[in-house]
Amino acid sequence: MSFWSKLSKIIAPEDSSNFDTRSHWVYVRCKRCGDILSSRVDLQNDLSQDYASGQFVTRKTLVGDGANRCFQRVELALTFDKNKRLLDIQAIGGEVVDPPQKEGEIGD
Ligand SMILES: [Zn+2]
Repeated sequence: MSFWSKLSKIIAPEDSSNFDTRSHWVYVRCKRCGDILSSRVDLQNDLSQDYASGQFVTRKTLVGDGANRCFQRVELALTFDKNKRLLDIQAIGGEVVDPPQKEGEIGD
C-alpha cells in the first residue's frame, strides 16, 4: 500500500494541489461593517515583477456586495518573493484575516 501510494504521488504530485499553487486567496474584514471579503490572486496572470528586487507585486480593490448597505472599498497591496510566496499584505479600509476553515481540507 505504501509503495503504491508513494508511486502515485510521484506520478501525479500536483493532482490535488495544482489549483492552490496557481491561486492565492486573500480574506479581509471590512473595517466599516465587519463583512468578510475575499479575493483570488492568480499567480500566473495577476502579478507584476519588480526586476530590481525580483519580487512580484499586485493590487486589488475589494467592494462588498452591498448586503449590509456598505460599499466600503478595501485596497490591497500584495508582495510576493521571486518564488511567488507571500511576503506582505497591506490593506487599507480593512483587516487581513485567516481563511475560513473549509471541510475536506484537513488531512492528507
Ligand atoms: Zn463593509
